[in-house]
Amino acid sequence: MASVSVTNLRKTYGDVVAVDDVSIDIDDGEFVSILGPSGSGKTTMLKSIAGFVEPDGGSITVADKEMIGLPPEDRNMGLVFQRLALFPHMSVFDNVAFGLRHRENLSESELEERVSDILEIVSLPGYGERNIQNLSGGEQQRVALARVLVLEPDLLLYDEPLSDLDRQLREQMRREIRDLHDRLEITSIYVTHNQREALTLSDRVLVLHEGEKVRCAPPSEIYRDPQSSFCANFVGDSNFLEGSLDQSNGTATFRDDTGAFSLPLADAPDEDAPDVLYIRPEDIKINEGDGEGEPFEGTIKSTVHLGSVTEYQVEVAGTEFLATDLGAPQYDEGETVTVRFDHYGLVEA
Ligand code: ADP
Ligand code: MG
Repeated sequence: MASVSVTNLRKTYGDVVAVDDVSIDIDDGEFVSILGPSGSGKTTMLKSIAGFVEPDGGSITVADKEMIGLPPEDRNMGLVFQRLALFPHMSVFDNVAFGLRHRENLSESELEERVSDILEIVSLPGYGERNIQNLSGGEQQRVALARVLVLEPDLLLYDEPLSDLDRQLREQMRREIRDLHDRLEITSIYVTHNQREALTLSDRVLVLHEGEKVRCAPPSEIYRDPQSSFCANFVGDSNFLEGSLDQSNGTATFRDDTGAFSLPLADAPDEDAPDVLYIRPEDIKINEGDGEGEPFEGTIKSTVHLGSVTEYQVEVAGTEFLATDLGAPQYDEGETVTVRFDHYGLVEA
């Protein structure tokens, strides 16, 4: 187990700056996700930590030891990727024992003990003699984890390991990965473009955009106070309005091209920042009697039933908003409703 410090990490490919001066300090036993859209530099950052990519600049230390210059096999890190690269013709036991056989001089009985202990940990007790090809997707994923864990890495690195799985299995494996982390407390870095995974798995989330660090904070903090329009949009959904907010006289009035809204008072915004107002879809209340904001007349433009929630496009004073409500649709297209903005925030453009 170990703490990790990445300092001013930089990697370019020709004209492309894949990772642009990114720094993060990760505590011993912490679970950090690197979240960003495709091409934002997540894999390049992870591969630099693992030793498969040579950075142009910066430093990477694990337990205060510099990693740059060390080959991957001398870094004692466990890697879990989307492609599992299990040996399909070998048993579960031989797959899990493979790395140990090559790395350590263990007797066959010691080997058996280490492997069976680890199979127990990943909830595959007694699976040693089973054939890889006869296992389910989730079981194969657990073998891949066991194969890495058996080597007792200082650091676990995941690169979108669940992307190939169907939704149900993905959610189950996500819970198992977090549960495993809570039991073993191995420092972990988890790369994903899936905000749901990042928000539910991690102690902190590092948000990358075009190679740059946008934010690094606990998930709930990023959701509650996204600070930039990129985070407000990428971590959860948001409606955006550009204009100006006037909070004098104990009321808040937001003006844009289409008109003025009066809103509940916000936390004092940064005076120099341009005002971009974001409203989460769940904070737009339709036909709810009590609430803080002034009621507006709105028109339902469309309704999409997503199972546990319904999404509405609702037009207020010439602007369309995305609103969500729990349960099945209650309003029809064209229906006139009352809309309140219960909560909103300001972000940098
Ligand atoms: P992510 O994992 O977030 O999708 P990557 O780290 O794979 O992003 O890529 C970041 C940027 O670097 C992209 O623009 C990608 O095209 C570029 N890139 C990544 N690897 C290479 C490479 N080996 N050669 C050239 N460009 C690369
Ligand atoms: Mg990637």
